[in-house]
Amino acid sequence: MNGTEHDDPVDVVAHAIAAMERPLLLVFDCDGVLAPLTDHADDSVLTDGVGPALDRLSKTADVRVAVLSGRSLDGLAQFDFSDSIIVAGSYGGERRGRSIQALTTEERALLSELDAIAVEAAKQAGPGAWVERKPTSVVIHVREADAELGSDALEMARSASASLDGHECHEGSNVLEFMARPADKGRGLLGLIADIDPGGTAYFGDDVPDEDAFAVLGTSDVSVKVGDGASVAGQRLPTPDAVAQLIDRLCGLLDADSEFVLSEE
Ligand SMILES: [Mg+2]
Repeated sequence: MNGTEHDDPVDVVAHAIAAMERPLLLVFDCDGVLAPLTDHADDSVLTDGVGPALDRLSKTADVRVAVLSGRSLDGLAQFDFSDSIIVAGSYGGERRGRSIQALTTEERALLSELDAIAVEAAKQAGPGAWVERKPTSVVIHVREADAELGSDALEMARSASASLDGHECHEGSNVLEFMARPADKGRGLLGLIADIDPGGTAYFGDDVPDEDAFAVLGTSDVSVKVGDGASVAGQRLPTPDAVAQLIDRLCGLLDADSEFVLSEE
C-alpha cells in the first residue's frame, strides 16, 4: 500500500467503521454534520445526496442508523429522515414514534421561569436574537445578533439562571439552552446503545454538546469530530461535505460486506 489511501480522512474513518464488530450503530448529529450550519435553524437543509444515502445505509444488513440532535423532534421534521432511521431529538429526551413523559409540576414551573429569562436575554441582545421553545427546554439564539450585545445577553441569562435549582445549561456556538429536564448527548447516546445493543458504535458531532457523546464511547468504538476545535474524539472529518462522502463510501463498503447476507431484493 502506498499510503495515499489512508491520507484521506474519509477513507480512514470508513475503514475504522467497517472494521468494527456487527451489528453497527451509526449515530449522527444533524446541524454541522448532516447539514451545513446556517444562521437560522429553519433554513438548514441536508447536504446534497445525504438523505437518500442515509436511507440506503439504514437498510444495510447489520447496520442501524440514528440521528441524535439537540433539536426538538419538531425541529428535526424538516429533514424528513426516512422511517428506517432512528430519530432522537432534545439530546435523546425525545424519540420519534415514542411519547415523552409529561413534565412534572416542578419541571413546568422551572421551564416557565427559564423561559422568562430567555425572553429577557433575547430582548437585551436586540435584533437577530430569538428564543426557541422545546418540550423540556428553552434556547436563546444570538448568532444573528450584534456580537457584543449577544454575548452580554447570554452572560446575563447564565447568571440569572444560577439562582434556580434543578436545571442544566448547555452552551453552544452563540447559543445557550436551559434544560428544565436535564439531558445531554452522553445520556442520549447511552440510551440508543442500550436499545440496539450494537457490537460497535460510531458517533459524529461538530459542537460542544457532542463531546458528552464522544466521552461515553469505548476504545473499540469510533468517535468523529466534524470541523475544527478541541475534541476528545479519536477521528476527524473537515466538513459536512466530507461526512456526505463518508456515508456514500460506507454504503458501498458495508453493502459489499453484507452481499451474502442479503437474500431478498
Ligand atoms: Mg451540531
